[in-house]
Amino acid sequence: MSQSILFLAHVSEAGNTLPKASYEVLGAAQELTKQLGARLTIGLIGEDVSAAAKTVATAGAERILAVAGPDFATARYASDAAAAEALCRSAAAELILAPATSRFMRVLAGVAHRLNGCVDTHVTALEAVDGDVRATRWHYRQRIEAVIRRDPRTWMVLLESGCHPAFLGAAGPTQVEQIPVTLPKAATRTVVTGVRAPKSDVQTIRPDARLLFVAGAGWTKKQADGKTHVEQAEPLILDFLRTSGASLGGSKSLVDQTGESQTVLGFMTHLNQVGQTGSTPRHPKGLSTCCHGEEPHVVGWRFINERRAVNLDPNCGWARGKADVLYVADAFEVLTKLNTLLAQKSRTSPEPAPQQA
Ligand SMILES: Cc1cc2nc3c(=O)[nH]c(=O)nc-3n(C[C@H](O)[C@H](O)[C@H](O)COP(=O)(O)OP(=O)(O)OC[C@H]3O[C@@H](n4cnc5c(N)ncnc54)[C@H](O)[C@@H]3O)c2cc1C
Repeated sequence: MSQSILFLAHVSEAGNTLPKASYEVLGAAQELTKQLGARLTIGLIGEDVSAAAKTVATAGAERILAVAGPDFATARYASDAAAAEALCRSAAAELILAPATSRFMRVLAGVAHRLNGCVDTHVTALEAVDGDVRATRWHYRQRIEAVIRRDPRTWMVLLESGCHPAFLGAAGPTQVEQIPVTLPKAATRTVVTGVRAPKSDVQTIRPDARLLFVAGAGWTKKQADGKTHVEQAEPLILDFLRTSGASLGGSKSLVDQTGESQTVLGFMTHLNQVGQTGSTPRHPKGLSTCCHGEEPHVVGWRFINERRAVNLDPNCGWARGKADVLYVADAFEVLTKLNTLLAQKSRTSPEPAPQQA
């Protein structure tokens, strides 16, 4: 009997598709299904999964299962766990693949326990070796890469976003098997009454952006005229983020200044910090400005594929093999020019600006 794989997903907040990371996991599930000669089942959770189910109709799944209804509209531990458990039991799969969304990261370890199985989170790659599955994940701030092989089944694996090409199959009509779940009253006690999110123009961390833009402490340092120009730096960077759709990162020196109440960029927080003690974001391209390119900072650039930097110092860290291209230039001038070009482009191009970066 061939192995069975369940791809588990919840619908997006808009309700008519799945979160972007889910299609990447589905791409990985398809590949693994093929390599292992396994059978694929899809399990969906949400208020109404019919539109989302059409987007995965051509993925080659033998069955598409759903736990649907108003009780499953929003993230809630008790109802999400009950829904995921019911789907896993119905699919009777040995391997369960799911995206590492915040909704699933909260709940799937508990579900694995209920199934008497095991779980691995933060997985970045999956492959079949001699009919066996290997999962890869990083430890110790991305310095040690572990390859995991497990005997127990059920094995639940949550994949990070940006690690596998997304499933791009056409949408189509499909049959969805509804799996009934009756929730005890206690499971519906928690109610989501609303969502408070930062305004989109102050939301500077954008994991899906094609470009990571990093600002370093140089933006707040004295310039050639002996003065600082933070009041110019702020609008230059914000304009660039708006027109390019880039995600904003910062060096430790710059984000620490925020904490020390110096004159700094008001929109920069510790959440933006990239590096050894910061985050390790994944973007196809990165542009560093006014940042020296010290090793503890560059550690966080590990998953940035194409790296460019702008620095006045031709001997900065980026020049020593840390960037593909170093522009020895004044970042104030470079960004002014870039913003002019991007503004011209958005006037002539019908494409929305955030796709351009
Ligand atoms: C244990 C440890 C962990 C650390 N973890 C992190 C981490 O997670 N993340 C992190 O970022 N750092 C980390 N650091 C600190 C790191 O080593 C650096 O000190 C820090 O990243 C330096 O920040 P910076 O490059 O922005 O500032 P600086 O070193 O002050 O560099 C500023 C740069 O701006 C340039 N510049 C100035 N004006 C202009 C201009 N007009 N145009 C272009 N360039 C200009 C200058 O030439 C200079 O190179 C860590 C350090 C330690 C010891």
